[in-house]
Amino acid sequence: MGATEIVTRFAPSPTGYLHLGHAYSALFAWHRARAAGGRFLLRIEDIDPTRCRPDFTEAILEDLAWLGLDWDGEVRVQSRHLPEYRATLDALSARGLLYPCFCTRADIAREIAASASAPHGPDGPLYPGTCRRLSSDERAARIARGEPHALRLDMEAALDGPLDFEEEGTRFACEPARFGDAVLARKDVPASYHLCVTHDDALQGVTLVTRGVDLRPATDLHRLLQSLMGWPQPRYAHHPLITDESGRRLAKRDRAATIRDLRAQGVSAAEVRRRAGEGNLPRAPSLF
Ligand code: GLU
Repeated sequence: MGATEIVTRFAPSPTGYLHLGHAYSALFAWHRARAAGGRFLLRIEDIDPTRCRPDFTEAILEDLAWLGLDWDGEVRVQSRHLPEYRATLDALSARGLLYPCFCTRADIAREIAASASAPHGPDGPLYPGTCRRLSSDERAARIARGEPHALRLDMEAALDGPLDFEEEGTRFACEPARFGDAVLARKDVPASYHLCVTHDDALQGVTLVTRGVDLRPATDLHRLLQSLMGWPQPRYAHHPLITDESGRRLAKRDRAATIRDLRAQGVSAAEVRRRAGEGNLPRAPSLF
C-alpha cells in the first residue's frame, strides 16, 4: 500500500434495510476512495445478535451492488471475528486498563438517581464507577460464580496525554474522558462497537474514516483506543446526515425511504443515487 493511498470503508449494521441516508454515506466513502484511485471496503458490523439479521446483511450487499457500488476484497463480517476482539480485550486487561462491571441497568440507574450529580457523555449518563471500586478478590469471586459482567475501560488509568484527530486538514482536540468508563465488552456481546470499529479500521488499513456527523463524538474515544493499542491514526471525514422534506433525520423506521421500496416502485439506481444527494459529493473529473 502506498503511503498516500486512500482506503475508505462503509460499515453498516444489518439491523434493517438501507435507506437514502445509508446510500449517501456509502457513496461518500466510495467517491472519496475511487476519486483518489484508492480502495473502498465494505464491513458488516453485526456483533449484536439481538438486533442484526443475516437477511439484512444479504439485502445490504444486494442493494449496494444494485446502486452500482463495488468494493475491494472480501466483505468483513464482524461476528465471524469475535476471538480477534477478545485478544484486544485481553491485551488491555493485562495492562490493568479494564475492569469487570456486574451492574445491571437498574443498579446503574439507582446509583445515578442517588448521587448529587449525574454527568452525561455522548453515550448517555456516565457510569458512576461502582464496580471500579471492587477489590480484586471480590471481582475474582464473582467471575468464578459465573456472574454476567461487562468489561469497562478504566478511563483515568487509560488517559495519557493529549490526543487529537485530523478532519479535512484541521486538527481537533479529543476529550475521551467525556465517555467515562466506556463499555468495551458488553454483558450479552463479548465486544462493543467502539472496540470493533477501531480494531477493524486498523486491521483493514483504513486511512480515511468516513461516517455521519452523529458519530463524531465517538472519534474521541476511538483515538484513545488507537493510542493505547499502538494502531495507526486514520484521517476522518464526518458527513452531514440527510433529512426528509420536513428536516427530520432519516431512520430505518421510515420505510418509504428504503432503497428496496424505491427499487420496487421502479425508481432507477441513477435516480436513487441522485435522491441520496450524490450530486453534492466531491468527485474526481474522471468519474463524471
Ligand atoms: N456500524 C455503524 C452504524 O451503522 C457505523 C460505524 C462507523 O462508520 O464507524 O452506525
